[in-house]
Amino acid sequence: MTQFDVDLFIIGAGSGGVRAGRIAAGYGASVMVAEEYRVGGTCVIRGCVPKKLFVYASRFAEEFEDAVGFGWTPGEATFDWSRLVAAKDTEIDRLNGIYIRNLERSGAKLVQSRAVIVDPHTVRLVAEDRLVTAKYILVATGATPYIEPDLAGRELAISSNEAFHLERLPKQIVVVGGGFIAVEFAGIFNGLGVETTLVHRGDALLRGFDADLRRTLREEIEKKGIRVLTGDTLASIEKTADGLLARTRNGEVLPAGEVMIATGRVPNTQGLGLENAGVQLDGAKAVIVDEFSQSNVPSIYAVGDVTNRVNLTPVAIREGHAFADTVFGGKRISVDHLGIPKAVFSQPEIGSVGLTEEEALAEFAAVDVYQTSFRPMKHTLSGRNEKTLMKLLVDADSDRVVGCHILGPDAGEMVQIVAITLKMRATKADFDSTMALHPTAAEELVTMREPSVRHRRNG
Ligand SMILES: Cc1cc2nc3c(=O)[nH]c(=O)nc-3n(C[C@H](O)[C@H](O)[C@H](O)COP(=O)(O)OP(=O)(O)OC[C@H]3O[C@@H](n4cnc5c(N)ncnc54)[C@H](O)[C@@H]3O)c2cc1C
Repeated sequence: MTQFDVDLFIIGAGSGGVRAGRIAAGYGASVMVAEEYRVGGTCVIRGCVPKKLFVYASRFAEEFEDAVGFGWTPGEATFDWSRLVAAKDTEIDRLNGIYIRNLERSGAKLVQSRAVIVDPHTVRLVAEDRLVTAKYILVATGATPYIEPDLAGRELAISSNEAFHLERLPKQIVVVGGGFIAVEFAGIFNGLGVETTLVHRGDALLRGFDADLRRTLREEIEKKGIRVLTGDTLASIEKTADGLLARTRNGEVLPAGEVMIATGRVPNTQGLGLENAGVQLDGAKAVIVDEFSQSNVPSIYAVGDVTNRVNLTPVAIREGHAFADTVFGGKRISVDHLGIPKAVFSQPEIGSVGLTEEEALAEFAAVDVYQTSFRPMKHTLSGRNEKTLMKLLVDADSDRVVGCHILGPDAGEMVQIVAITLKMRATKADFDSTMALHPTAAEELVTMREPSVRHRRNG
C-alpha cells in the first residue's frame, strides 16, 4: 500500500480550507494546511469582516444628522481614518489568532508557505522547497481582484485589498465596477465624507439582483451624493501634481486621490501547478468540480471561490465541511447551491433570496408580485428622504413564495430569516397567517394583502 506523508493537504487557509481542515482532522485524518498570506483568508483579513466594520463607521455621519429630529444637538463631529484602520487591524489580528488556534487545536499542521501542486499526490512547499505527499489534495485558494491588463495607468489604481490599508483618506475617489464590492465601497467612502464617483460599464448596478432593487438603490445612493456613471468605463489613469486623473471612454475627466477598481475577481489558479496534475479548468480559470467538489483528478478536490460557484463565505465553509464529511466522515454530502440568501451592505442595505421577478417569470406561468415602498418610521422624525422597498414573489399556482427582496435598514438581517421559510417551501398563506410584529419594518412582509402585479403567461 502506498504511504503518504499526510492524508490531506489543503492549499489555502481561508473560509473553505480552514473548515475542511478542522472537520477532516476531527475525523482522525492527518492534515497539513499551507497558507501564503494570513490565516483566515479573504473574508476575515480583507473581505467581509473589515468591510462590514468600515460600513458601520461610514453610517455615523447620517446618524448624527438624524439625531437632530429626535431632540439631540450633537457637537461637531470629526473623523480620524487612521484610528479606524488601527482599530480594524486590532480586530482582524484577534480573529486571525483565533483561526490559527482553532486550526492547530483540531490537530491540523499549519505551514506558512505558498504551496504548488507537483502531481496528483504531491505538493511543494515553496518557502521550504520541500515536497509533501498526500492521499488527497484540497485546493482552497480563493480568488483575487481582477484589473484589466491593458488599462493605461493600472499600476496607479488600488483594489479592495489596498483599500483596507490606505495611509490617508482621499478627498475624492473614483470606484470602478457595478458589483457588490464596488457599491459597498462607494457607500463607505461617501459616508466618510469622500467625494465619490462610481463608474460602471453596464446600464444598472448589481447584476443578478431584482431589477426594482437595482433601480431604487441607484436612486437612493445618488440622493446621498454618490455620482453614478453607467454605460461608461475607465480609459486611463494618470498621475498629476495633486493626485490622479481618471479619464473615461465617454470623455469624463475625474480628478481623484485614489482610483479603486472592483470589476471582478478571478480564481486563484495561476501558477498553482494544476496542469502538472491534469486538473481541468473552465473558461474563467476556475477548477471544474462535481457536486462533491471533486475535480477530474480523483485525489484532487476544490472548494470555495476557486471553483467560482457561488462566491460567498458561508458557501465556501459549507463546501469545505461537506468535502470533509464525504471523504473522511463516511457520509456523501453535497451542497445545495439554491436559495442562498445574499446581502449587499450598501446604504441602504439590500437583502435578497430566491428568484428575481425576471427569473420567476421565466420559471412559472403565473406569478403574483407583492410590493411595497414606504418611508421607515425613524425617518418620520429624522426627516430623511429615504425609501424602504419590499417585494415578495409568489408562484400563483402553488401559492409558494419563491423570492423575497428588500432594500432598507437591516435588510440582510431580515432576509436571513426569510430564507428559512423559503427553504421550508412556505406559501403566501403561511406569511399571511403569521401575526405581524408591530411596529417593525419587517411586519410589512406579512401584511401585504393584494398583489401589485399579477403576471399570467398567455393571458
Ligand atoms: C472586499 C470583499 C468583501 C466581501 N464581502 C463578503 C460578504 O460580505 N459576505 C460574504 O459571504 N462574502 C464576502 N466576500 C467573499 C468572501 O470573502 C469569499 O467568498 C471567501 O473568502 C471565499 O473563501 P475561500 O476559502 O474560497 O477563499 P479565501 O478566503 O480567499 O482563502 C484562500 C486562501 O488561500 C491562500 N492561498 C492562495 N493561493 C495559495 C497558495 N498557492 N499557497 C498557499 N496559500 C494560498 C490565500 O492567501 C487565502 O488566504 C467578500 C470578498 C471581498 C474581496
